[in-house]
Amino acid sequence: MGKLFGLLGNPVSHSMSPRMHNDAFRSLNLDHHYHAFDVKVSNLESAVNGIRALDITGFNVTIPHKVEVMKYLDEVDEEAKLIGAVNTVVNKDGRLIGYNTDGEGYLQSLQKITGEQLQHMKVLIIGAGGAARAVFTVLSRYGVPELHIANRTKEKAAILANECNCGNTNVMVCSVEEAAMCLDIYDLIINTTSVGMSPNIDQLPIDLGNLRVDSVVSDLIYNPLKTKFLQEAEAKGATILNGVGMFVGQGALAFEKWTGHSPDRSKMEKVVLQQLGGS
Ligand code: NAP
Repeated sequence: MGKLFGLLGNPVSHSMSPRMHNDAFRSLNLDHHYHAFDVKVSNLESAVNGIRALDITGFNVTIPHKVEVMKYLDEVDEEAKLIGAVNTVVNKDGRLIGYNTDGEGYLQSLQKITGEQLQHMKVLIIGAGGAARAVFTVLSRYGVPELHIANRTKEKAAILANECNCGNTNVMVCSVEEAAMCLDIYDLIINTTSVGMSPNIDQLPIDLGNLRVDSVVSDLIYNPLKTKFLQEAEAKGATILNGVGMFVGQGALAFEKWTGHSPDRSKMEKVVLQQLGGS
């Protein structure tokens, strides 16, 4: 019998996950269905109880519920605890277990560009929100030797650095302006803020005047597909990476946890790009 999967968020009307997952189910001849549920903050606990009552097999969690949902689950895995947020829940025989696949999804898409060089890179992360915590945690676990964090609110960056360092990573916290002044020391620069996201597409998270031409510049944003940040970096000769690979990666990892099947990631990417009007 077909199983039911879902997304809890608010708003969810523009989510690309239903089409991405439903297409992957069809491709694997699985009679399952994925539905986006628009859940207000005040209804989150009832929604999770509803999932238990209806025996829904698994679900994703998105803004604004990624942190709050943890208190309604039976178990949260170690990496999700470190990140402090859950984006994927598996219903295992009635027990709801929370995971975070955002960080690993990002790492996999990044490695396609950097290969093993990542182990030797000096990295700047701009931002200190939920996505930054996921990215920082996996890069630290992977063994990136030097990670600097620049955020508008410096205190939040300091908390992140304190809570998410899971290796021997050398960590430094600075302001965005300080980071911009010495941008040429970084091999990889990652924007994890929402600056530059549609509709505010003319904004830049950092000044790229001191960017090195051989650096890699990555933006977690996927709408627009090429932010102003990535356009400027590319014009200066840098290698660029947008957020589509991370989105597909987190979805594919969730899909694997729920079904035990590996979806065709290139097909998933095609479905996402169709929705974003890209190719
Ligand atoms: P979040 O927890 O709300 O964090 C937002 C971050 O952006 C904070 O560091 C915040 O700084 C900074 N910021 C927001 N507005 C700013 C402004 N005007 N000037 C300077 N800094 C600003 O959000 P999130 O969940 O981390 O998401 C951040 C971005 O990642 C979003 O664009 C989201 O779409 C993207 N994302 C992509 C994927 C993917 O699959 N590709 C997955 C997750 C997230 P303060 O700390 O100073 O407020």
